Amino acid sequence: MYAPSEGWVDAFAMTRTLVKEAQALGLRVMEGTKVTGFERSGGRIVGLQTWRGSIACGEVILAAGCVSKAMAAHVGVDLPVHNFLARATVLTAPEGLTKERRNVIFSP
Ligand SMILES: Cc1cc2nc3c(=O)[nH]c(=O)nc-3n(C[C@H](O)[C@H](O)[C@H](O)COP(=O)(O)OP(=O)(O)OC[C@H]3O[C@@H](n4cnc5c(N)ncnc54)[C@H](O)[C@@H]3O)c2cc1C
Repeated sequence: MYAPSEGWVDAFAMTRTLVKEAQALGLRVMEGTKVTGFERSGGRIVGLQTWRGSIACGEVILAAGCVSKAMAAHVGVDLPVHNFLARATVLTAPEGLTKERRNVIFSP
């Protein structure tokens, strides 16, 4: 399917920019730091266990993508998220196609 009105975003660059802006506002980013468990007290999550030790916290936002369901299960929450395998086909654009004409999408 050729979709001339489709566009694209460099997700990596966009994420980097958002992180940079958030850091300027005081956000602390810990890359490569896996969360391995939750610390609870009085029915609340009060901290995270990570590869770099424990981090105390008042609130947690769980945004682990397809891993979120498994992580939520650690604290007894059954997230209504269902993972399934999908297929993707990656093709090489024929020689001669300009960048503007590379907006070709195939979806079954
Ligand atoms: C091949 C492919 C192509 C796609 N193309 C498009 C597209 O063209 N347009 C579009 O809109 N969407 C596309 N998507 C979908 C899009 O990528 C997802 O919808 C989106 O990334 C989901 O964002 P998220 O933040 O919820 O999860 P994710 O992007 O999966 O982010 C979850 C993050 O949590 C981290 N994490 C997981 N477990 C832990 C842990 N224990 N400790 C610490 N961190 C952890 C992961 O490392 C990851 O960085 C595509 C997906 C795939 C697989």
